Amino acid sequence: MQRTKVKDLLQGAEVGKEVLLKGWVRTKRGNKYVNFIAVNDGSTINNLQVVAEAEKFSEESLKDVTTGAAIAVVGQLVESQGKGQAYEVQATSIEVLGKADPETYPLQKKAHSLEFLREIAHLRFRTNTFGAVFRVRNTLAFAVHKFFNEKGFVYMHTPIITASDAEGAGEMFRVTTLDPKNPPLTESGEVNYEEDFFGKATNLTVSGQLEGELAAMAFSDIYTFGPTFRAENSNTTRHLAEFWMIEPEMAFYDLKMNADLAEEFIKYIIRYALEHNREDIEFLGQRLAEEDKAKPQNERQEMTLLEKLEFVVNNDFERVTYTEAIDILVNSNHYKKKKFQYDVAWGIDLQSEHERYLVEKHFKKPVIVTNYPKDIKAFYMRLNDDGKTVAAMDILAPGIGEIVGGSQREERIDILVERMKSVGIHEEDLWWYLDTRRFGGCPHAGFGLGFERMVQFVTGMGNIRDVIPFPRTPQNAEF
Ligand code: ATP
Ligand code: MN
Repeated sequence: MQRTKVKDLLQGAEVGKEVLLKGWVRTKRGNKYVNFIAVNDGSTINNLQVVAEAEKFSEESLKDVTTGAAIAVVGQLVESQGKGQAYEVQATSIEVLGKADPETYPLQKKAHSLEFLREIAHLRFRTNTFGAVFRVRNTLAFAVHKFFNEKGFVYMHTPIITASDAEGAGEMFRVTTLDPKNPPLTESGEVNYEEDFFGKATNLTVSGQLEGELAAMAFSDIYTFGPTFRAENSNTTRHLAEFWMIEPEMAFYDLKMNADLAEEFIKYIIRYALEHNREDIEFLGQRLAEEDKAKPQNERQEMTLLEKLEFVVNNDFERVTYTEAIDILVNSNHYKKKKFQYDVAWGIDLQSEHERYLVEKHFKKPVIVTNYPKDIKAFYMRLNDDGKTVAAMDILAPGIGEIVGGSQREERIDILVERMKSVGIHEEDLWWYLDTRRFGGCPHAGFGLGFERMVQFVTGMGNIRDVIPFPRTPQNAEF
């Protein structure tokens, strides 16, 4: 007999028929006459109610049907007489495939804290919250590919091991096969990476952009979607040491076209999740509303999760220049009352408190900030005619802060080389990158979207550790 997934059964696909379902017991309750077993197989947030009449099933035969156990059920799918579900299964046979000892199985009926569940990340998939989060994550990932595929972008796999440390000086993870106890040394006593696996020092990538640019100079439009590593020792709710990034790169795009694409992209994938994971998002919204009740009035959300997402999808993002953003901040009451921890002046790198003020208090919607001072941005961003700013854009989202970082790239080789020199990057190290400017270079642009921050935004989860299955953060690489 073929197994049917709970999601399909709940849509009444095989009503009246004998069905086979398999899944994990969420709860079992009952009385002298009948047992109700809630079964979930991960296909949906909803459980299927299995009815096991005491006449047919002895207490003994159901003793191992406990929370967490894997079971297979055969029975008839019927319209439910009880409230709470449209369909249920009248069981004729129940087989326990895998027991879960109630004495030791950590996930019992009561609600567990997110912190506790992080310690049992191998089991947390089986909770309603993480079931919803990771189904939404899956849908968003699929939507990313769908969006770019429909637009004719080529999906490019950029390397994970890289020898260029141009971008992430200081925050990279070294990749080596040298013996740490006894590494080969140069005459001056330093580790000799010429004897290492690749014949030079290598690291895990902090971004696929530079390689992405090379491909854009042939395919016009490409994107990457892969793991990214940063050894930044910042224990925040928005940073991981291993995260996933989406990096489109487009030939013949300027900054405005870049921003337009990013906005369209973000709206598209949110809309896709709203259409395909409505129940999950509704559930996550309720959980957020519960969490909110415990907070003081002024910290509570003004909109529910669903309202927020629909608002974002249906309204234009705000667009301001960095200079305008600084003016807004300096003229704010918040600033005058000295409520910012970090001072504000033209030239500073916006701190997350500044970003959050702009999106949450001032504009109350996502904001695209453009044209940052060149000294706080990467060398490859295109220098504007004012000589002081570059054609950069960051997208800031309510509750998250920076979600996208991007720019138009510097295509003029003399200016690019000048900028590299001024930040201490050697031309020889990036000879292949500079070749794109030597041979058929053209105006082009791109951006990077942090996938987990996007998942945070759509699920409303406050901590980035709760939107990636097994988070890697300072002092933590369990599982
Ligand atoms: P931040 O200032 O928040 O650390 P960044 O300026 O270092 O971000 P970029 O280098 O522009 O970020 O990277 C592009 C995107 O990748 C960011 O907008 C963000 O969404 C995401 N991102 C960056 N660092 C991390 C991280 N450590 N963990 C998760 N996502 C990240
Ligand atoms: Mn960073």
